[in-house]
Amino acid sequence: MNKFTLCMLILLGTVCWIHAGTSQLLQGNQQGTEHSMSIRSKTFGKTPDGKTVQQFALTNKNGMSVKIINYGATVTELTVPDKNGKFDDVVLGFDNLDKYLTNQSYFGCIAGRYANRIAKGRFKLNGKTYTLARNNNGNHLHGGLKGFDKVIWQAAPIRVADGAALLLQYVSKDGEEGYPGNLKVLVTYTLTSNNELKISYEATTDKPTPVNLTHHSYFNLAGAGNGDILKQEMMINADKFTAVDKNLIPTGGLKNVHGTPLDFTTPHTIGERIDSVEGGYDHNFVLNRGTDTLSLAARVFEPTSGRVMEVFTSEPGLQFYSGNFLDGTSTGKENKVYNKHFGFCLEAQHFPDSPNHPKFPSVILKPGKTYKQTTIYKFSAK
Ligand code: BGC
Repeated sequence: MNKFTLCMLILLGTVCWIHAGTSQLLQGNQQGTEHSMSIRSKTFGKTPDGKTVQQFALTNKNGMSVKIINYGATVTELTVPDKNGKFDDVVLGFDNLDKYLTNQSYFGCIAGRYANRIAKGRFKLNGKTYTLARNNNGNHLHGGLKGFDKVIWQAAPIRVADGAALLLQYVSKDGEEGYPGNLKVLVTYTLTSNNELKISYEATTDKPTPVNLTHHSYFNLAGAGNGDILKQEMMINADKFTAVDKNLIPTGGLKNVHGTPLDFTTPHTIGERIDSVEGGYDHNFVLNRGTDTLSLAARVFEPTSGRVMEVFTSEPGLQFYSGNFLDGTSTGKENKVYNKHFGFCLEAQHFPDSPNHPKFPSVILKPGKTYKQTTIYKFSAK
């Protein structure tokens, strides 16, 4: 996308913000369908320093919808039909901005500049040691104290070939949270007519810097707040995972999943072996990749609703996190309480702590190059 197109899109988004209390921004006109594609926006809240946060609602022709706020580029709601056509919201989140401002669970956000952990918040690049913000047991997690989940993104609704889309842009300044280089990040959420939530990422920099972006929705295919996820069946297309120490920092080794509770190469319920995994699942799986740019990373099935979610990605890794730190203190949407294991995350990304492990696939973005990622969450029911 060239600079002019981007400026026009941002301008369009801004104009829409000014004119929209609750407004229809894009409306498809498919004939003979019950629903048509649309994007609406409304004010979601204000940050303590007076910045307005908008919520955008994208709907596809099947009636599936996703709501996204431009604080943290966060998915706040995702309604998906079950096997009888009944819609439920399948992601955890909050009804108001204040809770997003204070909660530490990264519900629905885009995590960056480096999603997951960097040991001791330190790495060496071209002979120089960089020190990052430490926010997790002396380590750096999900971009630090003020990661991409806690900033305001510029947002603009756009129309793309395969559905309604929202383009979000954020410029992370040189030195932000300790990272080198001004990094321009573009994230596009598309709701396709095939019931896919497609996330496309691009980033460019003016100095070499590590980049690792991911999406952090907590899913519950039975509906957010409707119990735990332990009976949902998980398949992860990975023969290996990155071995970690007690603080979830990679040792550098890859371990085989076979014969361990991390073997999801055939479907198992999440709960079946979770008690033998200290702390619950919170592991980076090394995906078995074919030659396709996008390959199937995981499939989850919820037996009561019949909902199925498949994850396709261009990334080498997938963090499976079983909501181990949810503890019921945060009251979610519709006053539902989110207890331990009430949601799971499937975060497509590079391996944790890659800047300190030369043998892991490189995460260093150089000036003149473009970071790219595509990840798709595809929904169906059986
Ligand atoms: C990490 C967890 C962390 C959680 C925070 C996940 O991506 O793997 O260790 O506690 O994010 O919400």
